[in-house]
Amino acid sequence: STEIEGIVWRSTGSWYEVRTNESELYRCRLKGKFKIKGLKVTNPLAVGDKVIFHLEDNAENTGVISEILPRENYIIRKSVHKTAHGHLLACNIDQAILIVTLVMPRTSLGFIDRFLVSSESFRIPTVLLFNKCDLLDSESEAYQKEIMDMYEGLGYPCHSISALEKINLKAVDQLIEGKTSLISGHSGVGKSQLISEIIPELELATSEVSTFANKGVHTTTFAEMFEARPGTYVIDSPGIKELGLMDMENEEISHYFPEMRELLGECKFHNCLHVNEPKCAVKDAVIAGEISESRFNSYLSMLENIDNRR
Ligand code: GDP
Ligand code: ZN
Repeated sequence: STEIEGIVWRSTGSWYEVRTNESELYRCRLKGKFKIKGLKVTNPLAVGDKVIFHLEDNAENTGVISEILPRENYIIRKSVHKTAHGHLLACNIDQAILIVTLVMPRTSLGFIDRFLVSSESFRIPTVLLFNKCDLLDSESEAYQKEIMDMYEGLGYPCHSISALEKINLKAVDQLIEGKTSLISGHSGVGKSQLISEIIPELELATSEVSTFANKGVHTTTFAEMFEARPGTYVIDSPGIKELGLMDMENEEISHYFPEMRELLGECKFHNCLHVNEPKCAVKDAVIAGEISESRFNSYLSMLENIDNRR
C-alpha cells in the first residue's frame, strides 16, 4: 500500500499517533525492532519524529511505521539511575522555551543554568520567559532586570511576561511563530496558564489526559505536540522539568557555558577545569567580574567528583 509521511504527535510507548501534512491522525505501531546507532535509549521513537508509514489492511486509520527520517536534533532525558538507558523525549525541536519565575515560586539560577547546559549540549536554542511580572515589586523588578540582562548578554533572549494578566504575550506569539517549541518549567511557574493562553483549544485535551491518568492507566507522562496554528507547534512535556544532563566529561561542561567557551585555549593547561589550576583565564574573568559569580557557582556544582571548595 502507499507510503505516507507524518510526524509523531503523541506516544504511549506502544502506539504512536502520527499526523500527516493534511492534518489527518493515524494510530501507528512500529514494525520490528529499531536500533538507533550510538543512542542508548529505551524508546526508539518520540514526539516530533518524522516517519514513513503505510496503512494496515482491514483497519481504519491504523498504520505501520517502516522508517524514521533523519533527526535535526533530539532531547534525551537521562534516567536517574546512572547505568540505565535514557529516554528519548522529543525530536526535531527548533527552540526550547524555559518558563521561570523569580517570585512565587522562585526558580533557582542553578536550575536555569543546568537547563541551559542541557539545551546547549543538544544544540537547541533557548529563550527564557520570566512569568508573573504582575507580582514584582520595585525591588524584585530590579533584580529580575539584572538577571535578564545577564542571560541576554550570554545570548539567551529573555522576556518578562504575565500569563495571568496577559502582559507581553504578543512577544510569546512572535517567538513561537512558524516553529516547533519545547516548553519547560518547574511546576507552579504558570506553564499551563501560558499554554492555555497561546492555545485556547487545548484545555479540552489536557483535561482528557488527566481523567485518563486518574484511572491509573496512564502513569508515565509522555511529551505531546500541539498545534497553535498551522506551522506553529508546541511540545509540552508534563511532569518533566529538567532535561537532565547527558553523559558529560568534566572537561566538556565549560563548553556549554558560552562565556567560558569563549575563553577556550586561554588557560595555561589545555584541560583546565577552572577549579584550582594556576593561570586560569576563566577564574581571572570571574575575579574581573566578566563572568558572573552565580554562573561560575553553577558550573562548579556540575563538576563531578571534584573538590569544589575553593
Ligand atoms: P504550572 O504548574 O507551571 O502549569 O503552573 P500553572 O499554570 O498551573 O500556574 C500555577 C499558579 O500560578 C496558578 O494559580 C496560576 O493561576 C498562577 N499564575 C500563572 N501565571 C501567572 C501570572 O502571570 N501571574 C500570577 N500572579 N499568577 C500566575
Ligand atoms: Zn581554566
